Amino acid sequence: MLIKALWKSVVIAGVVAALLLSYNNKIFSQGSEEPVAKEENIPTKEPLIIKYLHLDTNSADKAFEQADQVNIKLQKQDKAIPHGGGSIKEIKIRGFHNGETIFFKLTWDDAMKNERVIKHEQFRDAVAMMFPLDLVTISPETPFSPRMGDRGRPVNLWHWKADWEKELHLAGRFEHVDAVYTNMFDDFQDNPISVPVQNDLYSSTQFISGGRAAGTLLAKPDRGRSVEDLNAIGFGTLTSQVHQDVKGKGNWVDGKWNVVIYRPLITPDKNDVQFVPGMRTFFNVAVWNGAQGDTNGQKSITIRWHPLTIERVKYQQQ
Ligand code: CA
Repeated sequence: MLIKALWKSVVIAGVVAALLLSYNNKIFSQGSEEPVAKEENIPTKEPLIIKYLHLDTNSADKAFEQADQVNIKLQKQDKAIPHGGGSIKEIKIRGFHNGETIFFKLTWDDAMKNERVIKHEQFRDAVAMMFPLDLVTISPETPFSPRMGDRGRPVNLWHWKADWEKELHLAGRFEHVDAVYTNMFDDFQDNPISVPVQNDLYSSTQFISGGRAAGTLLAKPDRGRSVEDLNAIGFGTLTSQVHQDVKGKGNWVDGKWNVVIYRPLITPDKNDVQFVPGMRTFFNVAVWNGAQGDTNGQKSITIRWHPLTIERVKYQQQ
């Protein structure tokens, strides 16, 4: 179902892109201005090793001290229009698993915490990890875009968002517009319709919030998580999953974000990457800096996949 939806979005996006971009007899492909560099299909050498540590989930903070760390340099997103980002220069990543759950800790410098997206000019801090959905070989002969995946080569993305994290801890689990515009009033306050009718209307999800009525995670209060589980098969195909499996916890202290993202190694969702101890795969990462107006394709990225090794559990080691 999800794959069908992705393909539908590809067709629609393709038609729209063709109409918009066939300007002055110039055709641009998929928002790309430059051909993909050969190096984009050569993964980096240094693997992130996900150690097996026999610990319960409450000991995650201590476990990270025993985990190996990889430092990854970031750059601006320079392929899909609109270009931008690049203000976050480096991210540190470490991870472990306990045989049931895989944990990643992502740390980066960011002078300002941006956790509110209510005004037009407000943008959130965020970070995302991306994995090939299937076991793949990546080389110039077997290309696989490190940006948003490819047609026929889907990726699973985990997108942590600072505003979702904040809302987890608010009364009602949702931040309202009047938190910013404290003197605001709405049409209903001076509405001539009788009070009972007005109250019915005001409490009616269908009338007040189409997004909430449709059950989108963005509009949903009490979504219970700060990480969105998504899929993509290239630029413009990002699709939220029906089955949300990823959770996280972010903490900003003294100009530094520490975000832990975790998920069971195995899930029942065929749209999720599955992690089997002993396997090797790849990951990529992106960071958004709200203070710089980062959103969507405007972000700090890496243009190569990074190897990921999931250590075997102890009883398998000889
Ligand atoms: Ca899922």
